[in-house]
Amino acid sequence: MARHDSTTVQVVETAQDLTRRGYLMATGGNLSLRLPHGQAFAITPSNYDYMKMKPQDICILDLELNRLEGKLQPSVESAMHAAIYKARPDVNAIIHTHQVYASALSMIRAPIPALFDEQVRFLGRRVEIIPYAPSGTGLLKNAISRHVCSHDNAFIMQNHGALLFGDDMERAVHNVEILEKCSLAYLLALCSGRKVSRIPLPIREIAFSKLRSDQKKVLQNDPGFRKKGGR
Ligand SMILES: [Zn+2]
Repeated sequence: MARHDSTTVQVVETAQDLTRRGYLMATGGNLSLRLPHGQAFAITPSNYDYMKMKPQDICILDLELNRLEGKLQPSVESAMHAAIYKARPDVNAIIHTHQVYASALSMIRAPIPALFDEQVRFLGRRVEIIPYAPSGTGLLKNAISRHVCSHDNAFIMQNHGALLFGDDMERAVHNVEILEKCSLAYLLALCSGRKVSRIPLPIREIAFSKLRSDQKKVLQNDPGFRKKGGR
């Protein structure tokens, strides 16, 4: 595993940090980090205790799901991660959680409108609900593939959990936190029964344009993607 030490260590440390903070529970959820050359990624193994996980347990797959390194079975959602990396060359880290407040919104199928400047700046214009499909299936992968071209970085999966992207792992973790804060605030506001106000449309568009500008910079700074068939 020597070639990818820093990547696999970061995946393990992030998984354990998210578990300690209650965003990942038991063996639920999964996360991955794209390798620097862009055409492969490191992903957590399937059904494995995060707190016992070691860097050598992390699987390295190419975007066609061929296993390059690692002895354990990769996450059942590996095809979903690969499809996202193919569709979104600006995304270098993906975290799928079963975080509680976003999961609550997933059950009432309530997408989160533009409530806060920071939310739109980092998560996108809105947090959409991806219709239910069983875990680990092509149906789920296809449902997600249809949504990710919106350039948003956060999605809620109906009766399942949440999906967050970042241009690096640190950004993806911050996006997990922002989504949970927005989900809780939105749930509380909905419980009041009163009208929930949104940020003004022009402000929403300014905040979203900053996110899009970040995403374009990621691609400009990594010309390898263009050479290798990325956008
Ligand atoms: Zn899941």
